[in-house]
Amino acid sequence: MKKILRFSAILTAHILILSLFASCSGGKTEYTDYTIYGMDTYITLRFAGKGQKEDYLDSVRDECARIIAKNEKLMSSHDEEAQIWGLNHDVDVILDAEPDLSAVLTSAVHLAEISDGAFSPTLGSLTELWNVSGGGPVPRSEEIEAASEHTDYRNISVDSGRISITDKECKIDLGGIAKGYTAQELLVYLNGTDISYGLVSMGGNIGVFGDKTGGNPFKVGICDPDNTSSVIGYLSIDDGFIAVSGDYERFFEEDGKKYHHIIDPETGYPAESGLRSVAVWSNNGGTADALSTALFVMGEERALEFYRESDVRFEAVMINDRHEIILTDGIKDGSFELSEDSYTLIGEAEGEDTVAG
Ligand code: AMP
Ligand code: MG
Repeated sequence: MKKILRFSAILTAHILILSLFASCSGGKTEYTDYTIYGMDTYITLRFAGKGQKEDYLDSVRDECARIIAKNEKLMSSHDEEAQIWGLNHDVDVILDAEPDLSAVLTSAVHLAEISDGAFSPTLGSLTELWNVSGGGPVPRSEEIEAASEHTDYRNISVDSGRISITDKECKIDLGGIAKGYTAQELLVYLNGTDISYGLVSMGGNIGVFGDKTGGNPFKVGICDPDNTSSVIGYLSIDDGFIAVSGDYERFFEEDGKKYHHIIDPETGYPAESGLRSVAVWSNNGGTADALSTALFVMGEERALEFYRESDVRFEAVMINDRHEIILTDGIKDGSFELSEDSYTLIGEAEGEDTVAG
């Protein structure tokens, strides 16, 4: 059942958006927050503007809720009526695929190719086995090996309305891209409304739209992986999406060790890349979401190499287990403000002070 609450204060902890409008001038802008529960998370819609009619804002909220419910049904691995459920069970080929399903799978396979499989939309057999959201337990190594035989993203091919899957035991899991893809669709819709500016925040993905008063950027707080109610710094953006993948988002503990939800497709185990969290900015929501997962798996060295060599335009803030924050070149200009003394900012541009204030 969908819950739609108005003016609710419940926010996802992954990205703190509390300060997002703090620099807004004039004090006349009105904000309306809505919280919708969908895709396993609380989704915040924040609309800013002057004199907007409540009925109008409610109708925009309703359309957002419709888009979220549509995509939840489309990309869920648990809905027996969904095409994806068929592909994950006994269907080899779908000839009349839902256009949105073809689109998200096309994009997911492309991101798997360019990330050399670090992001993989076909890890279903492994993620089911690990059952991180259900609290584990840690699978036996033989089980992990067996499941890993069926996780190659090249098992799926998408050609407009035709989706086929060659390995019957291969299972699609769009958990690493579904929310970002949906945030993208929401923002395309919101950009066409009369709302001056605002944001969508859903499970570690934020998208911003419109022009802020006075041309101020949107400031997005990045969580401390050790304490998700605290912010280690702020990334200023004018547009686009920020997605965060962190080892603190979903995990279970067994024998004093934490097992989180981001799987390294090469090992079949939760990634141990030395990174605690990765925030990616992109002008596309699905790309930001998939790349945050991919870079987390890659680790900082491989991620920076990928940044330099990739044709995809993105930026990243990576936090490693030595309390260091690594920035990509495009945000070494002061776009990131450190606010937590116990972390060290690495890779500042020479002669520039990247810490504002
Ligand atoms: P995120 O929180 O966006 O990094 O996505 C993590 C979710 O995506 C997990 O809960 C899994 O459902 C799925 N997942 C885990 N590891 C990967 C991976 N290496 N590539 C793609 N999806 C993954
Ligand atoms: Mg992701």
